[in-house]
Amino acid sequence: MIISVASGKGGTGKTTVATGLAVALVQKGQRVTYLDADVEEPNGHIFLKPEIEHTADVTVLIPEVDHNKCNLCGACAEICQFNAIAVIGNKVMVFPSLCISCGGCYEVCPEHAITEVPQPVGQIRNGVGRGVRFYEGRLTVGEAISPPVIKALRKAESDMDVTIIDAPPGTSCPVIEAINNTDFVILVTEPTPFGLNDLKLAVEMVREIGVPHGVVINRADIGNAEVEDYCHLEGLGILLRIPFDRNIATAYSRGELITTVGNRYLTMMDELYQHITQQVNYAGTGNSQR
Ligand code: SF4
Ligand code: SF4
Repeated sequence: MIISVASGKGGTGKTTVATGLAVALVQKGQRVTYLDADVEEPNGHIFLKPEIEHTADVTVLIPEVDHNKCNLCGACAEICQFNAIAVIGNKVMVFPSLCISCGGCYEVCPEHAITEVPQPVGQIRNGVGRGVRFYEGRLTVGEAISPPVIKALRKAESDMDVTIIDAPPGTSCPVIEAINNTDFVILVTEPTPFGLNDLKLAVEMVREIGVPHGVVINRADIGNAEVEDYCHLEGLGILLRIPFDRNIATAYSRGELITTVGNRYLTMMDELYQHITQQVNYAGTGNSQR
């Protein structure tokens, strides 16, 4: 079972849910892998406190031009859809931060003047924390394109009972890289106008890629009823309502898990998992949520 946890915007409690669920399942005897795919700002380690055992670089292939062979024909710049390579004066320049390593320029160069050179863009760290097999992707500061790091991280999906992927916030390419081909997406939101707006975008995204999904409403007893109304109208399952509880906020600020706040929250995480398994089984019978 691979469960991804996403939210249309940051700060809704996505990591609180992802780490809390991971530890609750371990306490139930499940073998759990947690992948922190929020690679621009990974913070799952604050709560799971892993002993890091191994670190590996993530590299991408960036073109390098041999100016002795280049005849300045411009074919490389012409094929590049990302303006990552350009003929400027009597030189070909590469802009690595724009390059997506598609290899197009390398293929079309008539002089074989281009070679692909590995360039580090991030790291994968792994270890064990709170009984959870922990993996974290970390984009190098200054790098702009995070999907290669997320792709490398997802290779760590294992034969454990459950893999939980803490996705980046938002609805752009990195999120899709993190949630695509998972069994279920938990969409974490809050009952505010901003929460509703971003939830709508997130729902559009998961429907487009066709992954079963449900909603967790965090700080459910503040704000207004519009998120609930929207979920009912759209037939979205509300998997869990987490109350606004000062003790959760205090635990969070200390780097403590929601499951340490009280048994009530441990039970909530267990119930969340039960709801998900029911929905995954239901989807597996050929029924969908829409
Ligand atoms: S590898 Fe692809 S994206 Fe990068 S410079 Fe070449 S054509 Fe452009
Ligand atoms: S395609 Fe090759 S030969 Fe032509 S400008 Fe680019 S690097 Fe030079």
